[in-house]
Amino acid sequence: MHIAIAGGGLGGLTLARILRRHDIEAALYERDASRVARSQGGLLDLHPESGQRALAEAGLTGEFRAEARPEGEEHRIVDPSGSILVHHRPDPGSFDGRPEIDRGVLRDLLLDALPDDAVTWGHRIAAAAPRPGGGFWLAFSDGTGADCDVLVGADGARSAVRPLLTDAPLATVAVLAELTIGDADHRHPELAALVGPGNLWCVGASRILAAQRQRDGSLRVGVTLPPGSRQPRSYGSKRALLEQFDGWSPGLTALIEEADGPPVVRRIEALPTGTRWPHRPGLTLIGDAAHLMPPVGEGANQAMLDAAELATALAADGVHGIRAYEEAMFARIHPVAEMSARVQAMMLAPTAATDIVRFFTPAT
Ligand SMILES: Cc1cc2nc3c(=O)[nH]c(=O)nc-3n(C[C@H](O)[C@H](O)[C@H](O)COP(=O)(O)OP(=O)(O)OC[C@H]3O[C@@H](n4cnc5c(N)ncnc54)[C@H](O)[C@@H]3O)c2cc1C
Repeated sequence: MHIAIAGGGLGGLTLARILRRHDIEAALYERDASRVARSQGGLLDLHPESGQRALAEAGLTGEFRAEARPEGEEHRIVDPSGSILVHHRPDPGSFDGRPEIDRGVLRDLLLDALPDDAVTWGHRIAAAAPRPGGGFWLAFSDGTGADCDVLVGADGARSAVRPLLTDAPLATVAVLAELTIGDADHRHPELAALVGPGNLWCVGASRILAAQRQRDGSLRVGVTLPPGSRQPRSYGSKRALLEQFDGWSPGLTALIEEADGPPVVRRIEALPTGTRWPHRPGLTLIGDAAHLMPPVGEGANQAMLDAAELATALAADGVHGIRAYEEAMFARIHPVAEMSARVQAMMLAPTAATDIVRFFTPAT
């Protein structure tokens, strides 16, 4: 059984690692030229029942605990005047909750657990097609190709493999503008103190200004706005973003004003909740390729759990294990995707502040 994995993100790498623990080799094709080709983004909180479980099956719990930051779970939610609505402090040093880890560190941890030649870098899959005699043909953008018996699409939001299984459309659910404030402790200690060791969410009517402390002492700032009718690029300057926060406390909008460069703006997309496909032998999807959902803290966790469950199914039943993996994955993902869509809508509602406080306040 010759397995090919399209995409070396968190899902694809977790799959490759756990398969190897079952003595199954897979060819992994990644479009990035190398592991350092691009920055991997901010922090992720790994949940015990999904991301951490997958890492345990990958034999990497010790490595995760050495790198994770439980204190990064601390979060504050404030209103546009800067008044604190919620302040959550995790138990010091506890791994019982959802400790944060730098996304790049997590990816490195998975790469380091694979042989050097496990990832074929610089191979963007331009198209995937069934072979007449069974299996699949992968056409790379450099004109080369490869074949396989089993193909797993782990190639993210705009998967090249997904069209073989479903034509479910992507919808824009938000616009995200990201900025960075480097060396915040020294250059902007007041902003570093405002954000604290974890996350800050400033919630207003139909908009969120968020900031997250990074491992290197920088702050990653994100502005989330409704999709609306404006082109995302119209938010491409600090001034255009600041116009969205008229009347907010200057102590909060300083997170935009003091950023090191102009915002990087992009659409946030999602697949319809409940996306599924009829089983097709030898072919499946994991992670964002299978169930892209609004980024409210589940996508990477579910991608890694998909990987763990698919690896176990392939090890137990070979290619026949894919059907069982898919049925279990569809059932698991449906409520998670529904919850993610609800939270995303709540965060961008006119009543977001009161809704979010209710969401984070345990029922008595
Ligand atoms: C702003 C933001 C914040 C988020 N925060 C969180 C969070 O806190 N917690 C959480 O759990 N999730 C979070 N997510 C979601 C999370 O990032 C994704 O769900 C997760 O990365 C999915 O993993 P994946 O392996 O399926 O896809 P990806 O991480 O997207 O990896 C796909 C890989 O495939 C490669 N690739 C793509 N196309 C091709 C091709 N044609 N050929 C070859 N290779 C290809 C890419 O280069 C990439 O390496 C967030 C997302 C966003 C946008």
